[in-house]
Amino acid sequence: MTNIVNHWIGGKSVEGASGTYGPVTDPATGAVTTKVAFASVEEVDAAVAAARAAFASWGQSSLAQRTQILFRFRALLDAHRDEIAALITAEHGKVHSDALGEVARGLEIVDLACGITVQLKGELSTQVASRVDVAAIRQPLGVVAGITPFNFPAMVPMWMFPIAIACGNTFVLKPSEKDPSASVRLAELLSEAGLPDGVFNVVHGDKVAVDRLLEHPDVKAVSFVGSTPIARHIHTTASAHGKRVQALGGAKNHMLVLPDADLDAAADAAVSAAYGSAGERCMAISAVVAVGSIGDELVEKIRERAEKIKIGPGNDPASEMGPLITRAHRDKVASYVRNAAAEGCEVVLDGTGFTVDGHEDGHWIGISLLDRVPTTAKAYQDEIFGPVLCVLRAGTYEEGVALINASPFGNGTAIFTRDGGAARRFQLEAEAGMVGVNVPIPVPVGYHSFGGWKDSLFGDHHIYGNDGTHFYTRGKVVTTRWPDPADAPAGVDLGFPR
Ligand code: NAD
Repeated sequence: MTNIVNHWIGGKSVEGASGTYGPVTDPATGAVTTKVAFASVEEVDAAVAAARAAFASWGQSSLAQRTQILFRFRALLDAHRDEIAALITAEHGKVHSDALGEVARGLEIVDLACGITVQLKGELSTQVASRVDVAAIRQPLGVVAGITPFNFPAMVPMWMFPIAIACGNTFVLKPSEKDPSASVRLAELLSEAGLPDGVFNVVHGDKVAVDRLLEHPDVKAVSFVGSTPIARHIHTTASAHGKRVQALGGAKNHMLVLPDADLDAAADAAVSAAYGSAGERCMAISAVVAVGSIGDELVEKIRERAEKIKIGPGNDPASEMGPLITRAHRDKVASYVRNAAAEGCEVVLDGTGFTVDGHEDGHWIGISLLDRVPTTAKAYQDEIFGPVLCVLRAGTYEEGVALINASPFGNGTAIFTRDGGAARRFQLEAEAGMVGVNVPIPVPVGYHSFGGWKDSLFGDHHIYGNDGTHFYTRGKVVTTRWPDPADAPAGVDLGFPR
């Protein structure tokens, strides 16, 4: 082990004091390259205290001061795209172009935060009664926390902190312990942009650090993105401690392909959305529902394309798909494929046992394609989070929609068709928070909000966009009377005010 990833508290790097560390692995080689300090309760408390102290002035800072810092941060982020993408590839394994895409999507939210002035304008009603005006304003909450997953180590933190700090809050981030370096680099760039010490802090760790954030009386709100069981725990625990919570969970995203769809376009989309980032995306398509008699032709078109995907180290420009995050995860993904035939699936492509020459210890798995998957199969029911695509068959549009809506998850879904009427019906009938029409991964742009339904989100607010501003502020309504100097005193009136 060569490097140690430290916490970032009060504007500087702080070595871990708990004596506990976690390994960070290069997924392409399987080698442990770095260790990351795990925070104790006391270290989390130190980060929250730094954030609380910083809130005293940051919460009072002018909008111009905040946005100028965010504009400088935006420029630095833009200049360091490649470097951050390389950090992501080294610890996550995704290919460099995909890591660059992740930074670009994070940058979109920084763009939004640079324009927070417009979103925080408030509302005013004049003369609601004689000489009385009413203003609705929104104010920051104080210290807010973010807990993020391994699969987007730069983008998901940027779904949260740019808006939170633009609104005047201070932030404590607990990134994934599997790929922690990008978040520390973001902290350094924020500091270089002129962000006052303590406004943005990073504590690394596991359940100990997370649970302390959920319970800490000075943490006013918690944003979480990760798997469904942990999202449920975060929502329950943080709510019980009186906090505002948004907890985004896992997914099983379906793509409904109607018989009239352009099957080449549908197959391209299914392959890109299923196997991009090795399927480790919460908006990956993991189930295709073929309607009518197109199933065999569609599966064949998917197979032809999927077989050509080049798998290799993320830092090799020839690679289109990298390894999985850990060996344990790779083995779990492989177990779904190995059990698939016994569960009644037709295994069209089996990616288990795949390796890359010269990188035999990497966390490799090839492409898997399962056809005629019964809804009872574990491969269908669970979020696999790997390069495994299930194809199901439905006789009609109605059967397909019923199947999608029976899933406990409701993150994203997509329809592929040339029929505008069917697409319109699907928009209204699909029980998911994000719907694509001939778009397989309908991730909303920064100025709309991202979030699922059902077991894919616990809490009332989606993330970023207008919901982001709403989540990180609380409303206040101010009623003002300024009598005209010429008015006579109103006198005492015990009646109900009108
Ligand atoms: P995860 O739930 O294992 O971990 C997420 C975070 O929670 C990490 O910071 C981790 O340290 C922490 N954590 C893990 N176990 C914990 C526990 N017992 N108590 C407290 N904290 C704990 O998720 P992951 O494996 O890092 O990420 C993959 C998951 O995230 C997938 O399920 C994916 O669908 C989901 N995800 C969802 C979205 C979305 O927008 N809905 C986006 C990205 C990822």
